[in-house]
Amino acid sequence: MTTTARQLDHNGKLATLLAATLLTLIMLTGISRAEYKGGYPYKIGATVGMVGDIAKAVAGDKGEVTFVIGAGVDPHVYNPTRSDVATLLRSDIIFYAGLLLEGQMADVLAKIARKRPVHAVTELLQPEYLIHDPATGHSDPHVWMDVSGWMKAVEVVAQALAEFDPPSSAVYRENAAAYLEQLKTLNDYARRAMASIPDEQRVLVTAHDAFGYMGRAYEIEVMGIQGLSTESEAGLKDINRIVDDLVRRKIPAVFVESSVSDKNVKALIEGAGSRGHKVMIGGELFSDAMGPSGTYEGSYIGMIDHNVTVIVRALGGEAPPGGMQGKLRGIH
Ligand code: ZN
Repeated sequence: MTTTARQLDHNGKLATLLAATLLTLIMLTGISRAEYKGGYPYKIGATVGMVGDIAKAVAGDKGEVTFVIGAGVDPHVYNPTRSDVATLLRSDIIFYAGLLLEGQMADVLAKIARKRPVHAVTELLQPEYLIHDPATGHSDPHVWMDVSGWMKAVEVVAQALAEFDPPSSAVYRENAAAYLEQLKTLNDYARRAMASIPDEQRVLVTAHDAFGYMGRAYEIEVMGIQGLSTESEAGLKDINRIVDDLVRRKIPAVFVESSVSDKNVKALIEGAGSRGHKVMIGGELFSDAMGPSGTYEGSYIGMIDHNVTVIVRALGGEAPPGGMQGKLRGIH
């Protein structure tokens, strides 16, 4: 090695050392900046209600949650308004679903993430858990449809809030444990009720592919007219393919979704009808948005209870019209 080379090598090591020190310093200041120093309740921003609901349960009265994508709104194509952006900018910490669910909000979230903690609640899910769509190369974002998968999202929120506000970390752990207990009860109800659907009727036909995780968790076949996102329109080919299945397998019911137009589902019913097979609308499901706020269905637990109960009853299984805890209204 020549002197110059040795010198360079030494300089290179020094540079690496300096870079590592600098990175540590940045990380340390980053962490201390992220830690919350103000009063309670602090402001938590969320995108969809299901994510906001976890934050509410885990933060308790330490944080006040506002979510920007409300009842009946489709998150796949949702463009944040100026007031949504203002709400998120005013928040001290922000949670979103991730896996490209909030496709149009990526830029805004990335921008905000430079100034305050922003977390995707699906960030702890392993690649083996996720359902991949070979057509787009993306993962299915509708994780909340499998209660056991959504329980992982609760852990993300509990961990993030504990880092954000360390003095209250025990509170967040306790709140998370209590919420997880409720979700476990919900998961047990879903599993039991879905298992009661007769074998030949275990097919769930919906407006878009939001129910893949539900299908896998509770062993029911799923078919969506549109794909994982509602961004691309369904073609006549997609409709005809499912009409064929409805007629051939004598599937009794299809389902509409509160955040997606029902025109494709109506086309299915007409298509099957013209071939002599009568299909009913099994009910309205909450796929990507919870029910109206202030109602039981406007909570994550109520939303899943509603979906499970509606599906099970329409497909010939056994579930009480009031659902898991007698709180559902308007199901026959
Ligand atoms: Zn969706």
